[in-house]
Amino acid sequence: MIIGAMNNPHKEIIEQIHSFGEMNFDYLELTLEYPHASSWVVQKQKKRILDALSSYNLGLVAHFPWYFSISHPYEGIQKATNKEFEEVIKAAASLGAKKAVLHAEASLSPSLQSNVNMVANTIKNLKSLKKYAEAEGVNLLIENTSNRACTIKEFKKIFSEVDIKMALDIGHASLRGGAGFEEYVREFSKKVAHVHLHDNFGFNDDHLPLGAGKMDVEAVVAKLKAFYDSTITLEVHSPDPHYLKYSRDMLEILWYGKKKFEDNKDYLYPDGYKPAKY
Ligand SMILES: [Zn+2]
Repeated sequence: MIIGAMNNPHKEIIEQIHSFGEMNFDYLELTLEYPHASSWVVQKQKKRILDALSSYNLGLVAHFPWYFSISHPYEGIQKATNKEFEEVIKAAASLGAKKAVLHAEASLSPSLQSNVNMVANTIKNLKSLKKYAEAEGVNLLIENTSNRACTIKEFKKIFSEVDIKMALDIGHASLRGGAGFEEYVREFSKKVAHVHLHDNFGFNDDHLPLGAGKMDVEAVVAKLKAFYDSTITLEVHSPDPHYLKYSRDMLEILWYGKKKFEDNKDYLYPDGYKPAKY
């Protein structure tokens, strides 16, 4: 298991890389969003970003704007959006990203088109974007957002037609009205190639630190560990980095056990590591 943190696109990228590097995260999940992390800013800062990442030995996963529609029924609008998708794919590739996350339709009102149309359009656009991304050396992953966007049944349909893996967002899967984390695991455990983890109270997509909502984090980690051992991004949206550190310690302690967690820190902090209190 390796743990990453996501930048806030309303802040400069470089200073956040330093902050995540100082906290010894394994990788940055770079969300390529306006204004400070748009594709054109990332291209312009490419060398500085790569230098900052390598100075902390940080890896990189790319994440595309959640508000880029993947199933717009207006062909011209989708065509323009796909052009922007291509720009973020190119920017991700230029930084060496191998995994890039895009979202199931989350920005259009469900009243705009039937779900059958939404799924058909998603499949069509995913096929062409996947081809484009593969030529750039990037694997696209599709993230579950809320049940309103794509149900389990609709994801099954997408996976039956497009050879693409899933970025499982456990916070989103745990929202009320959805199928729930366990159902996602039952259906898609073999499809999961990346994980987002954050807490909430089930009503809103709060992106809280682990333990701050009503998620049974211990049960979630045990279930996840049974089938998955790769990138986990803590998508904790708080301006205070202590919450991110706390969430990471909690995840590591639950994953490795307290003793192993402390042993793992020995080589990083020879004078002793003080975990966030958990
Ligand atoms: Zn997410």
